[in-house]
Order: sequence, then C-alpha cells, then structure tokens
Amino acid sequence: MLKIAIQKSGRLYDHSLQLLKECGIELNNGNRQLKAFALDFPLEAYFLRDDDIPQYVFDNVADIGIVGENVLLEKNKDVEVVSKLGFGRCRLSIAVPKNMAYSGPKDLQGLKIATSYAILLQKYLDENNVKAEIHEISGSVEIAPGIGLADAICDLVSSGSTLFTNGLKEVEVILKSEAVLVANRNLDAEKTKILDNLLLRVNAVKAAKNNKYIMMNAPNSQLKNICSLLPGMKSPTIVPLAETGWSSIQSVVKESDFWQVIEKLKSFEAEGILIVPIEKMIL
Ligand code: ATP
Ligand code: ZN
Repeated sequence: MLKIAIQKSGRLYDHSLQLLKECGIELNNGNRQLKAFALDFPLEAYFLRDDDIPQYVFDNVADIGIVGENVLLEKNKDVEVVSKLGFGRCRLSIAVPKNMAYSGPKDLQGLKIATSYAILLQKYLDENNVKAEIHEISGSVEIAPGIGLADAICDLVSSGSTLFTNGLKEVEVILKSEAVLVANRNLDAEKTKILDNLLLRVNAVKAAKNNKYIMMNAPNSQLKNICSLLPGMKSPTIVPLAETGWSSIQSVVKESDFWQVIEKLKSFEAEGILIVPIEKMIL
C-alpha cells in the first residue's frame, strides 16, 4: 500500500483527484474524511494542509504527496520531485503600490515587505544584495500595504487581478511554480513498485494532454515533405487512398507545435486535416 498526501481543500484538491481519476484511480472521499482508500489501486490518501505535505513526506508519514513547488521550496525538505504535474501554475512575485516608482530590486532597499514566503524572499533579497525587513504573515498578504502594515508584498499571483484590486503592481517574479508529485527518498521495494506503476499512468495522462492525433490526405509527391514535419511516436503511418496518387497520413503532434505544423502541412497540399484528442499515451 502506498500512502499519498493531498491538499484537503483549496486550489490543488480538485486537480489532484482529477489526475488520479484520469489514472483510473477513484478515491472514495464522499464525506471529506481525513483518509480515503482507492477502489482498485493499492493507494491510501491522507488529506492535509498543503504546508504540512513536504514534512509528512519527508518523515514517511506519507510516502508521496502532491504539493506546489512554492511550498516545497519554502519548506526546504529533502524529498524527491518525481513528476511535474502541469496544474496549480502560479508565480511568487514582489508587488508594490502602483504609484511607487520602481526601476529594479535596489528600490526595495529598506522597505518592509509582507509575505508568507519568508525563506524564498530572503534568498531573493540576498542574491540581489538588498536589505529589507520581512514581515511574515500567514494570509491576506495583499491587503498589508493598504492597511499600513508593509510597504510591499511578496505573494503568489496567477492572473494578477487580486493585485490590481488592491492597488498593487507586480514588479519582480522570484519563482515560477506548478504542482509536483514528490516522494520520500527511502521507499521500500514494494512501495517503489507501486510508485513506478502510478508514474506510468501519470506520464500517460500527461503525454496525452500534451499531444494530439492528426490525420490528413495528401498527394504522394508531398509525402517526404510532410513526413519531415511529423515525427510521430516512431514515424507516421501512411495508408494509400482508393484514389491513385494519394495517401492518408496519421501521426502525433505536440500541442505546443500544433498551429505551426498545420500551417506548413497546408503549404504541402495536405487536405481534410483531422485533429483528435488522445485519451492515454504510453511511450
Ligand atoms: P491550505 O489550507 O492547504 O494551507 P492554502 O490557502 O495555503 O491552503 P491555496 O490557496 O489552496 O493554499 O493554494 C494551494 C497552492 O495552489 C499554492 O501553494 C500554489 O502552489 C497553487 N496556486 C496556484 N495559483 C495560485 C494563486 N493564484 N494563488 C495562490 N496559490 C495558487
Ligand atoms: Zn497553505
């Protein structure tokens, strides 16, 4: 049995359960208990505050956990990051009142900065040879300048709308973060095997999200050009069409390259291009 720590409520909760579900692992957590068992995978989930997850994984109370890189780096526990999960994206940024003149980190000298990330902020200030006073608070950091508690803040930002409504502007990004799967470094053989099995599924789900399946028809004279654009998992599949001189080509393209590839395919006379989502992709 492998024990996983998941945030009990908050921004990572839904995505974490969704990821497990896409891996075929359904957690029976109807009443939001502290613990839940998976139905058809040797996994037991503990629902905890995200701040406690690095410590619990380090102490082997849980074997693995899902947590933001921001929390992981702030807590500075020696656990292994086994997969980046692609959700919970945010940045840890310094923001100042929007009317304050700001031209670089030196303008933070002597200011009082409110944050829940004292360790990461101190590291940033040291790296930039800035001396500022860190005022550590645990929540609602964004209101600190407005109520006279601090001159600036260092907090998590995603869209920036919270900063905007509080009359602040983002001036430095000190960390970019996403949710990661972490593991204790001393798992026994049985747990390692279960984790490998889970990772195979997680990677299949991630790869499927990052790729699309593409099908098209093209004249045989263009096959070479088209194949050079489409590496596929091994190489593209080519099937002759009933109409002589034409083929159907099928392959996998990266979501990130997608539109660029489509433009080039069109210039190579590809027609009837179909793009379909991939459910799982085992490499
Ligand atoms: P807990 O009660 O578990 O301590 P919390 O209030 O500290 O919860 P949440 O606000 O639920 O935490 O955020 C959890 C994680 O989600 C953050 O640590 C971060 O990794 C990620 N995240 C993504 N976008 C944002 C954002 N805009 N603001 C805050 N966190 C974000
Ligand atoms: Zn927290």
